[in-house]
Amino acid sequence: MEITDVRVERLGLDLDEPAGLSRDRAIESRGAAIVLVETDTGITGIGEGVGPEPSIVETIVEEKYRSRLVGEDPLDVERLWQELLTEDLYWDREGQGVSAASGVDIALWDVAGKYHGEPVHRLLGGDTTDDGRLQAYASDLFFDDPEVMAERAAGYVERGFPAVKTHLGRGLDADEERVAALRETIGDAELLVDVNCGYDYPEALRVGRMLADYDVFWYEEPLSPYDTDGLAELRRELDTPVATGENTYTKWSFRDLFEERAVDYAMPDVMRCGGITELRKVCALGEAFDVTVSPHSFSSGVGLAATMQVMASSPACEWLEFDVTGYDLYESLLVSDLDVDDAGRVAVPTDPGIGATLPDDVLAEYGV
Ligand SMILES: [Mg+2]
Repeated sequence: MEITDVRVERLGLDLDEPAGLSRDRAIESRGAAIVLVETDTGITGIGEGVGPEPSIVETIVEEKYRSRLVGEDPLDVERLWQELLTEDLYWDREGQGVSAASGVDIALWDVAGKYHGEPVHRLLGGDTTDDGRLQAYASDLFFDDPEVMAERAAGYVERGFPAVKTHLGRGLDADEERVAALRETIGDAELLVDVNCGYDYPEALRVGRMLADYDVFWYEEPLSPYDTDGLAELRRELDTPVATGENTYTKWSFRDLFEERAVDYAMPDVMRCGGITELRKVCALGEAFDVTVSPHSFSSGVGLAATMQVMASSPACEWLEFDVTGYDLYESLLVSDLDVDDAGRVAVPTDPGIGATLPDDVLAEYGV
């Protein structure tokens, strides 16, 4: 089998209302760079690379990586990963070069699954879940008035999700007002708080101490991803577990986080950290350092499918991040319909490959 072409389709849409994050930041649109690896057998693999601008992922894949890949055997996934990630004198150790390679890597695993007629988790060692399902948490609540956030959270819990994640990071008082409202509304359900690197150390410490009063399950990205020492210090000071990793690339950076004892829940993103090949290695590191891996996943259905394939195969993984916002590019990109039970447990795709596709009608409506 030979790769005949590698290309990217960009998808995008504007949100009905801005989604508020920490420090007055907000998302006004969402998009995806869908990587397609075509072969001479008629099998096409699908993947996704996440960067702030899908057009940059597209440029890197098509102008830098494509020529390295065409003519190669797509089943040589590990060798091709080495070519993409380490053959350019390490100029792109982190950032969008790795994101673009992640999209290619996911597509190569999808080709392999389709070639062997198996879901990718079966190629990664098989299913480690009891019943082919992953426990999900509802993601995300964006910053808004406390009563608006509480009402939305109640709706997620009513749908069966035992845990809800919220975006805060606008200062101690504003955060506490919302945490109190959410805790009162969702009762015993778990509450995860994400501040998207919004604080410096003193403020992160004050807010973290407040979160413990409300029995918060994890405190996500309290500090800049550059501040590994600060994360380690915060983790020692606080009772609430620290989660981080969506802005961390490759196994080498996760090794540093783990060696510094800087994280309780590691959150590698399969579409950024180096693809399926790298995520499973980060999971192995998680096992060795006794750190739970809860992959970050807030993107299209392609990324969701790839994330589930790795999570199903790794004993290090807990808590699937599941988008409950009604995103149009989620279920529409899955081969089979989403199957979420009344306890918020999501069935792992069993279609050959990762279980994702790019239908013509989705491309026609959302193609950029
Ligand atoms: Mg986050």
